[in-house]
Amino acid sequence: MLTNDQLSQWDRENFFHPSTHLAQHARGETPTRVIRTAGGVHIEDRDGTKLLDAFAGLYCVNVGYGRQEIAEAIADQARELAYYHSYVGHCTEASITLSKMILDRAPSNMSKVYFGLGGSDANETNVKLIWYYNNILGRPEKKKIISRWRGYHGSGLVTGSLTGLELFHKKFDLPLAQVIHTESPYYFRRPDLAMSEADFVAHCVAELEALIEREGADTIAAFIGEPVMGTGGIVPPPAGYWAAIQAVLKKHDILLVADEVVTGFGRLGSMFGSDHYGLEADIITIAKGLTSAYAPLSGSIVSDKVWKVLEQGTDENGPIGHGWTYSAHPIGAAAGVANLKLLDDLNLIQNAGEVGAYLNAAMADALGDHPHVGDIRGEGMLCAVEFVKDRDSRTFFDAANKIGPQVSAAMLAQSKVIARAMPQGDIIGYAPPFCLTRTEADEIVAATVGAVKTVLG
Ligand code: PLP
Repeated sequence: MLTNDQLSQWDRENFFHPSTHLAQHARGETPTRVIRTAGGVHIEDRDGTKLLDAFAGLYCVNVGYGRQEIAEAIADQARELAYYHSYVGHCTEASITLSKMILDRAPSNMSKVYFGLGGSDANETNVKLIWYYNNILGRPEKKKIISRWRGYHGSGLVTGSLTGLELFHKKFDLPLAQVIHTESPYYFRRPDLAMSEADFVAHCVAELEALIEREGADTIAAFIGEPVMGTGGIVPPPAGYWAAIQAVLKKHDILLVADEVVTGFGRLGSMFGSDHYGLEADIITIAKGLTSAYAPLSGSIVSDKVWKVLEQGTDENGPIGHGWTYSAHPIGAAAGVANLKLLDDLNLIQNAGEVGAYLNAAMADALGDHPHVGDIRGEGMLCAVEFVKDRDSRTFFDAANKIGPQVSAAMLAQSKVIARAMPQGDIIGYAPPFCLTRTEADEIVAATVGAVKTVLG
């Protein structure tokens, strides 16, 4: 067995970590964190230190860690048939079963599911399908995609462009020209503090209308959005936002892609964010919670309206020129079937709604009056605390002070609780597994209170 020091050295010498300060890590200025095992809401590192994971990995281990039912399903599938492709009508019982289970749970206008591996490739698929759709309909100019500032849709070329966060564009020559951004539905960061929520929704709508006017509706194919913004700061939409935005999209014949990579399969306490907020999407992106990350699997759920055009396209052009070797990978599909069963059997979506509401209320009780807490917000099993230098004037800290990262580091050091310092702004995000108990929610709140006291007094 390798000693810890050897592992750290090999890590620094060989492993290219995503979303990491490469130079600091290579120099050994940031630690190598080797996670060895996990169960429920806890992970355990190589030294046996147990940590409460209040972000469920990357908001994906929704059923909690160590579920033997899913491990067994994966093992059974691997023993029987680890792989076969899904091109030209091939498939497995697991992939057919999972597609039916997804459609049984999806909004009623949905028709078929295309399987990928992660959220980024699923959104890449969506953009290709949308371009194909408009070419088949004889509208080759209608191709641009509108995304929102602070949206997160992946980190590929098109998906990194859709993502509206500075870090994902800077020095990568993104966004690509086909992607345009509009106002973020972020009421706390509204441009004018005097705006009511209704005023702010009207402002978002006006910004969208102006963008469509500038670009020309006949050049715009689709609008993509997360029902609740995730990586951009865990931002539930202001009341009435989705109804107002959808009215604009309908008027200009612009498709709606609901990116439910985080919200799909229960994180808001509802099966889909689309149900939760009354979105009538044309395509829904799913990943993370589809398998609770026990195996990589994503999907693009395509509506009847889009599907009919895709069928027409293949009658006119032959088989669709899109596919991954690992589309509908049997092991991912087996994990998905077992995961969705577990969500039902243990009533986990209901628990996410109930304990999530408890966590949000407890956080607001504990920190709502703190002079450096500007906003506490959330929905279902999602929660965020945003820090400000001054509450009354809503002045933010200089990013160089790294208040968010300091608070999350203090939570880890003092209380062994993992929460995520979100990448843009001083925001701590929480997205625990759905099996969280009220006692564990109290622990998360206490850890936050302790860390805020240490960092901000
Ligand atoms: N879409 C949303 C809403 C996400 O939150 C993420 C990842 O966090 C993605 C897409 C990209 O998924 P992946 O990291 O699996 O490529």
